[in-house]
Amino acid sequence: MGLEKYREKRDFQRTSEPPPRAEVNKGSLTFVVQKHHARQLHYDFRLELDGVLKSWSVPKGPSFDPEAKHLAVMVEDHPLEYATFEGIIPKGEYGAGEVIVWDSGTYSPDEGGRFLFSDRATAEEQMRRGLEKGKLSFFLRGRKLKGSWTLVKMQKRGNDWLLMKHRDDYASPGSDILKEEQSVASGRTVEDVRAKRLPDTAVVTQLNPKQVPGARPAPFPSAIAPMLASLAKSPFSHPGWIVEPKRDGYRIIAHIRDGNVTLLSRRGNNVTEQ
Ligand code: MN
Repeated sequence: MGLEKYREKRDFQRTSEPPPRAEVNKGSLTFVVQKHHARQLHYDFRLELDGVLKSWSVPKGPSFDPEAKHLAVMVEDHPLEYATFEGIIPKGEYGAGEVIVWDSGTYSPDEGGRFLFSDRATAEEQMRRGLEKGKLSFFLRGRKLKGSWTLVKMQKRGNDWLLMKHRDDYASPGSDILKEEQSVASGRTVEDVRAKRLPDTAVVTQLNPKQVPGARPAPFPSAIAPMLASLAKSPFSHPGWIVEPKRDGYRIIAHIRDGNVTLLSRRGNNVTEQ
């Protein structure tokens, strides 16, 4: 599709949205979901592919309920630079209204349960084929959105697709992820952006969009306490929780620094050799 449509629709003298430059990503493919309070509130779901962001407008937003089939209208490709865009598109311009980075992270196609997070070329090939077929299956590693999802085209012609959560350990019927309404890039809500509140500096500190979206630089940790199992009276299911079995053995924290791996036990003993 290219970025011609994206350029055509916008006057870069007037909008604060980024003009396409020559950004290139490496490593895992990225995704972003922008909450956009235009004439109608919607969520723009964008998957990186071939140097652009393939984009769908989802009026009802994503849902962790596998029964929810939410309309996703495919719109024009957006430039990679758009993934970090947050702000106000001025009145009179295309898409006028507030935009926040509602979620971001990496993704991989996951057909047959095969992940391609570290094989960009094959991942893109698979995504291209999926786009042609009108059926995409992918695994999201976002701050809010996780697990396996699918986008299915409703008819051969037209731009209407459906966004659905696959049944997996991340699925959570009855939960409402849209209640988590703050930007993962700035901590702000759409209302905060409208009121021109500044980004939360704790969230934004040195955020480098070239790195993993949403990642925050921090000093290299000397020790990390692993999570421990805790007792509960009965099993439960709750949004935001993933339950895993507690197996016997050692909890190991792997430190990777300057290409060197150190394995530390829970008590901080170096067990790399063992
Ligand atoms: Mn939009």
